[in-house]
Amino acid sequence: MHYTPARPDPTAPAVRINLLSDTQTKPTPAMREAMARAEVGDEQVGDDPTTNELNARVADLLGKEAAVFMPSGTMCNVAATLATCRPGDEILAHATAHIIAREGGAHAALGGFQITQLHGDDGQFTPETFRAALHPRTRYQPPQVLVSVEQTANIGGGTIWKKAALDEVVRIAKDHGLATHMDGARLLNATVASGISPRDMTAGWDSAWIDFSKGLGAPIGGVIAGTRAFIDDVWRWKQRLGGSMRQSGVCAAACIYALDHHVDRLADDHANARALARGLAQINGIAVQTPETNLVFFKPDGAGVSGDKMIAELRKRGVTLAMMDGRIRACTHLDVTAAMIEEAIGHVRDIVRGA
Ligand SMILES: *Cc1c(COP(=O)(O)O)cnc(C)c1O
Repeated sequence: MHYTPARPDPTAPAVRINLLSDTQTKPTPAMREAMARAEVGDEQVGDDPTTNELNARVADLLGKEAAVFMPSGTMCNVAATLATCRPGDEILAHATAHIIAREGGAHAALGGFQITQLHGDDGQFTPETFRAALHPRTRYQPPQVLVSVEQTANIGGGTIWKKAALDEVVRIAKDHGLATHMDGARLLNATVASGISPRDMTAGWDSAWIDFSKGLGAPIGGVIAGTRAFIDDVWRWKQRLGGSMRQSGVCAAACIYALDHHVDRLADDHANARALARGLAQINGIAVQTPETNLVFFKPDGAGVSGDKMIAELRKRGVTLAMMDGRIRACTHLDVTAAMIEEAIGHVRDIVRGA
């Protein structure tokens, strides 16, 4: 069986404008300097001072007792469900959630959990939908143990859950004895765009994590936070998953650098996303979802160009982006400038004109 790697065609011309994903950001020279200077030790036994500092910073940022550095956001999600649920337990999440479609089936394969798909616009279910999916505790139904949301909702369009809706989900979850998990791969995009602090945004959530390898520009890593007891359990799963590290301070230093220098500037990515959406919307036949953060979803079919054709034509012009669940997703980030956005809009206009 051959699995297709999710990467651009290596025979295509060099990529000059990379809108594929915010995971494409490269560490800046200043970030690399911070990494080179990092004090390090053995992370697995708690002796890496830089990693410890990062964990303390994120725990404080999210208003939680403790936090732990993980190799990836996916491992944050996987260790969180493993630490919270037992085989046969039910997790509730939106149908487009990363934990359902983009983690290799880890939650079923490793945990034996089933995930119930909740529906709703823009990658968000409503509190009413959540309530309607809850069932009484009986002998014959799976125990409902955890509800998970994405802040921002990736496939939903990088949309921001409103604080009031988050609070309502927490309230319903607590009433029914469910734990709450926030997949915060792009949490800081949501907090910068909304002006709500990360601590307030995650208040009431049992676990929450942020990804450093996306718009924050670090090469690897996510940090998950929660109660001390929860983080102890996550540590055990991190070890079981082979995720404990040694001199991880080299990478943690990049994350600390990102917290100090790359958070406020996420607003630039959001401005670039809005400019891209505005430019695309002015082209006849292009349907664009108005972005709330750094993800721009659009469909060119109305202009007589299929999504696949648009992507292939843009790639010939040095622009890379991808289809995601039937639409094209363009992602703005640290390595995308306003000038690149203008150029990309021009290419789309030319492609539509030539169609
Ligand atoms: C990217 C992403 C993840 C996984 O993070 P990785 O660091 O790529 O493993 C999880 N959830 C959402 C919503 C994401 O966008």
